[in-house]
Amino acid sequence: MSDLLARHRAVMPNWLALNYSEPIEIVGGKGNRVVDASGKTYLDFFAGILTNMIGYDVPEVREAVERQIATGVVHTSTVYLLRGQIELAEKIARLSGIPDAKVFFTNSGTEANETALLLATYARKSDEVLAMRQSYHGRSFGAIAVTGNRSWKNSSLSPLNVHFLHGADRHLAQFRGMSDADYIAACVDDLRHVLATEAAKGVAALIAEPIQGVGGFTMAPDGLFAAYKEVLDEEGILFISDEVQTGWGRTGSAFFGIQNHGVTPDMMTFAKGLGNGFAIGGVVARGDLMDGPHAVGLSTFGGNPVATAAANATLDYVLDHDLQANALRTGTLIIEGLKEAAARLPVVGDVRGKGLMFAVELVDPATGAHAPALAARFMELTKEAGLLAGKGGLYGSAIRMAPPLTLTGDEAREGLGIIVHALETINAEVTA
Ligand code: PMP
Repeated sequence: MSDLLARHRAVMPNWLALNYSEPIEIVGGKGNRVVDASGKTYLDFFAGILTNMIGYDVPEVREAVERQIATGVVHTSTVYLLRGQIELAEKIARLSGIPDAKVFFTNSGTEANETALLLATYARKSDEVLAMRQSYHGRSFGAIAVTGNRSWKNSSLSPLNVHFLHGADRHLAQFRGMSDADYIAACVDDLRHVLATEAAKGVAALIAEPIQGVGGFTMAPDGLFAAYKEVLDEEGILFISDEVQTGWGRTGSAFFGIQNHGVTPDMMTFAKGLGNGFAIGGVVARGDLMDGPHAVGLSTFGGNPVATAAANATLDYVLDHDLQANALRTGTLIIEGLKEAAARLPVVGDVRGKGLMFAVELVDPATGAHAPALAARFMELTKEAGLLAGKGGLYGSAIRMAPPLTLTGDEAREGLGIIVHALETINAEVTA
């Protein structure tokens, strides 16, 4: 065990899971690559869990942050006018597609979801909320309640009363073999049943990830969210789209993930990539919902001048370079390459994703069962070959990858080559 790992184990909680049998210390980065303490370079296909959205050491972001720090004003609090915050809010409100949108900034995705739930429960005068099975929205007291993924749910003592809906979990026996249309009809039937029999006080909102991130990049079929929205609209139930992983063009085919489903939500929450590493999150919501309660702000620190300088520079970079189109181009190249490989490699049970957000599911070829040990092997092999990926999913058998949106075509091909080679190696080992 390295000295640094021993020190980590001694003073940090043991539930802070580290990747790799020998965890790495990242000490530098440039473009879409990072370098570890031993000097080894990695193509980063996890990007700080989708946080370094435009890569590392980006001059535009560094200079914007340095300019802000040079003013001497690092933060003066939300009781004064903060120009950078207002500019950022204007851009996000415009991009959101939500009518009459207003924005509140936080420091993280968890706080963003906490704020959205607070706004929704206040507006609807109900503590009942709908969420999706296998979801992840954070682990604060409100966010943990709407997190359906049990392995992340260390407390059930939440103020919210939550009912979980079906979405990306169509592998369950009761749904097997169903067409999309039949599956959606079954899910809508379930929603109506929940509303009629379980929701005692009228439901405040549904919160959902357009693609379930921590859940292993699983997706509800096209049409499901639109069908849910129709039912919700009948009762005035609000739709909150958690865009912490899917926002800012990452899915390639839309700027916000939920727009892939043709749904205009009442609120969206965001974080991670917006600051390209600087702490920022927030909620964009219909103005009447945002203005409803008095003094709802969860923090005076969210959207501080340094974070908004980074976020403004990052968002401008994404828009100026049309990185959404790049996500579609490079992501499609990789996903198609992975599908081709999967067709000849029985250890790959599934390839899924949209744009630069894609996953492979490793399975035991003999039984089709989820194979977390093979996912762990994949992590070690790709680390060795110089590529960072993430492990996840309900069974720990999914490999999640989400490179910076700045990924070049050459880097996409290089990364695909490393991934396919690792999958071929595992396939040969397992089927030998
Ligand atoms: N929502 C989603 C969809 C997430 O993936 C995450 C983090 N993985 C969060 C919320 C929580 O965000 P944060 O870690 O910034 O608090």
